[in-house]
Amino acid sequence: MKHIYLKRGKDESLRRFHPWVFSGAIQSMSDEPEEGEIVKVFTNENEYIATGHFQIGSIMVRVLSFSDETIDQPFYEHRLAVALDVRRSIGIINDDNNTYRLVHGEGDNLPGLVIDIYGPTAVMQAHSVGMHQDRMVIAKALKQVMGDTIRNIFYKSETTLPYKAELEQENAFLLGGDTNDIAIENGMQFHVDWLKGQKTGFFIDQRENRSLLQKYAKGRNVLNMFCYTGGFSFYAMRGGASLVHSVDSSQKAIDLTNANISINFPDDKRHTAYAEDAFKFLDKMQTPYDLIILDPPAFAKHKDALRNALKGYTRLNRKAFEKIQPGGILFTFSCSQAVNKDQFRTAVFTAAASAGRKVRILHQLHQPADHPINIYHPEGEYLKGLVLYVE
Ligand code: SAH
Repeated sequence: MKHIYLKRGKDESLRRFHPWVFSGAIQSMSDEPEEGEIVKVFTNENEYIATGHFQIGSIMVRVLSFSDETIDQPFYEHRLAVALDVRRSIGIINDDNNTYRLVHGEGDNLPGLVIDIYGPTAVMQAHSVGMHQDRMVIAKALKQVMGDTIRNIFYKSETTLPYKAELEQENAFLLGGDTNDIAIENGMQFHVDWLKGQKTGFFIDQRENRSLLQKYAKGRNVLNMFCYTGGFSFYAMRGGASLVHSVDSSQKAIDLTNANISINFPDDKRHTAYAEDAFKFLDKMQTPYDLIILDPPAFAKHKDALRNALKGYTRLNRKAFEKIQPGGILFTFSCSQAVNKDQFRTAVFTAAASAGRKVRILHQLHQPADHPINIYHPEGEYLKGLVLYVE
């Protein structure tokens, strides 16, 4: 196994269990490792400090373990069993809910790996070459840990792996091949398009925020912007909304939203979906909405896009503040990891001020418990939301 030696003093963050080694911290390597290879990291004084996947770029090692152990199937089984125990012990998995994130990268001490569970199907996504190369052993470990509760493992990494790695990336079943794509979240059914959909097919990370929305929906006119497969819309329907309009620029998303509404609320005339650009829709809309959800895609995928992203959040939120009825409630989100909580708040508050509205914060929202944040890796915090009362 190849060894990496750190510069003097550059072991400090690893001693505090931060799971990344940056290129600037590296003094030398025993031999240039291949991307994705398992490497051992040593201090400048030849003391072992970590084992991880090697990658090319500014993060050069993503740490899998701080003890000198072999990275094999039993290693993955152990990590997966711990992740499953966490979800079980906090009651996320039950008869009413078979949809949850089992592995959230660094949050579950498996950097570069995401596994979402949709009933009998696990969707696995690699964000690093190392996890891509380990996919078969991880799939075996997953089956071992989950037993009969899963029958299918779909591997979906076509869009998440580093482009330059030039891998034979493919989306394919590693186990099973069931095409029944219906999963249950808090008692509601929905189709998950793991074959072609965004992320692993569904935005599990909004589950608790959708439940909160349900409580506020009664008697309101609801506008769900950037609806994707309609998650927020069906909670609004269940909460007793007077009408629900869902908007997404993708026709495919709108088709999925309509399909999901019709399995949960057949023949319910309260819902209409529009395939339109959100900004244009807000400009011309006439309906008096008093509950609006803004859950756009990440406006900043990288730090260098930050300024424009903040402007985008301000522009979008201003349009909603200008139009929402007095006494209305706004659920507004950012899933950009590069935008922190304070920056997002400032963007939203600037929007409220420029629209001249009086606004109170009712709730500050974040990602749910099955998307945990490793305390040694605060970068894992990405989803931020505000629930605002607009006078
Ligand atoms: N709220 C959703 C997740 C939103 S993901 C849920 O709970 O599942 C972001 C969505 O925004 C995607 O479906 C994407 O198609 C859509 N989108 C991106 N740009 C858009 C635009 N300019 N106008 C409307 N929708 C847009």
